[in-house]
Amino acid sequence: MLETYDLIIVGAGSGGCATAKIASEKGLSVLLIDKRKKKDIGDKLTYDTIPAYAFREIDIPYPEGKELDMKMEKLKVLSPNKKHHFEAPLDAYLTHRLLLGQRLLKYALDAGADLLSEADVISPLVEDNFVVGVKCMLADGSEKELRSKVTCDASGIRAVVRNMLPKEIYNAEEIRPEDTVQCYREVRDLIGTCDYVPPSDYPGWYCILQNRGYFWIVPEGDGEVNVGCGLPMFADNPDPEDVTIDFINEHPQIFGEEVYGKGTGPTPFIPMRADQPELVANGLVLVGEAGWQIATNSGFGVPGSIVAGKLAAGVVAKAIETGDVSREKLWEYNVLWKKGQGAVRAFTDGIRLLVQGLDHDELNNLVKLKLLGPKEFSHLWRDQTFRYNIFEMVAKFFKGIGNIPLLLKIFRAFRTCVKIEKIYQDFPEDARDFDAWKKSKDKAYKKLSKIVK
Ligand SMILES: Cc1cc2nc3c(=O)[nH]c(=O)nc-3n(C[C@H](O)[C@H](O)[C@H](O)COP(=O)(O)OP(=O)(O)OC[C@H]3O[C@@H](n4cnc5c(N)ncnc54)[C@H](O)[C@@H]3O)c2cc1C
Repeated sequence: MLETYDLIIVGAGSGGCATAKIASEKGLSVLLIDKRKKKDIGDKLTYDTIPAYAFREIDIPYPEGKELDMKMEKLKVLSPNKKHHFEAPLDAYLTHRLLLGQRLLKYALDAGADLLSEADVISPLVEDNFVVGVKCMLADGSEKELRSKVTCDASGIRAVVRNMLPKEIYNAEEIRPEDTVQCYREVRDLIGTCDYVPPSDYPGWYCILQNRGYFWIVPEGDGEVNVGCGLPMFADNPDPEDVTIDFINEHPQIFGEEVYGKGTGPTPFIPMRADQPELVANGLVLVGEAGWQIATNSGFGVPGSIVAGKLAAGVVAKAIETGDVSREKLWEYNVLWKKGQGAVRAFTDGIRLLVQGLDHDELNNLVKLKLLGPKEFSHLWRDQTFRYNIFEMVAKFFKGIGNIPLLLKIFRAFRTCVKIEKIYQDFPEDARDFDAWKKSKDKAYKKLSKIVK
């Protein structure tokens, strides 16, 4: 190990490994730190769905062999009363999470990054208002300080570096409880099917909109099924574990008795909202869930963390070359993210707030009339925005004519989402203009929250 690294990355998840791979390829000395054992990095209960573009983003092959369970081609969206549904196309891979995690780690190590595993980062090192490394506790209980020019917090939802920084260095936005989704899932045999449960060869997701979140049923290899839900933590929302188990118990002819896996893996929580307004500070970048770079409708976080890691690594490499790793010099990462995927996620976050604000009757109508239908859901689940041409607007108007209040709510919310997207695309290149930008963003969100209430 070196005395000082160009870049220390806390967390060897998808975001940390992507950052390490690209930064090492650019010639930086990189140390990846993870509290897990090397062989466990990436491990999680069962499979994850990873949109195809995530692999193209860092030029790596799509999953194959044991890593690939199924190519995911469809998403079936069902209304809360399960009477209405539509199908949207998907382009994703159902991927063995541990094998993918180990593959991403191998790319990082092959590119030249060092790994310090079984090391729990316990605090950042701060000097003269700059983050200059981290202190961690090693497997034998001893503490070690590790120094770097730039530190990347890629430690997931707990954001262990970001959360321990004083306000003068990094001013984090607080997350509202209802913007965090709590998940629960079980893996069982799929022994039957019905209108709202997929047959075992269905290449995709069944997704029932309910409780301001969604319930999923996803067939996995060998006749098994991943069944569960992710529900935002509104105080009056039920516990996702209770909802899942009730559903399973009500369908003994569909789900086998044996439980092959349950829970979620390392955490049941997902920060389901648009990104942290600031993704950089002096000597610091945030990547992945540590920066809330998540898909706000599907809850997919791997693609956002990979895109972010690639962008962050490029900007960090340039900053280190100039010898200036200040917030201002790293600002370009904030700009690149906000104008690209950040703008997409802000738009889709608005749609998430719209859907969350609808009661079950409104959602039944939304699905029945396809007021948000295959086109919208297909875009949302691929991390893309959408627009309507005049013919689509007219068609929606006629479909929704019996539900004018709902139709108006959707159109007004959609227009505000487009505005929010534009605000993100106009993110300031100069860090000094950030406060004014944040004010206009917060104002647009306030307007949206009035519309969707
Ligand atoms: C139930 C559930 C299902 C999901 N399904 C999908 C899906 O199908 N598709 C998808 O794309 N996303 C899915 N997600 C979201 C996805 O798992 C995350 O968004 C994604 O893993 C975030 O990547 P990351 O690199 O930011 O963080 P993580 O993958 O969380 O990696 C963080 C790493 O940091 C390490 N770490 C944490 N604290 C410390 C510390 N103090 N010191 C050292 N190391 C530390 C951890 O060990 C971990 O390896 C799901 C999430 C949940 C909860």
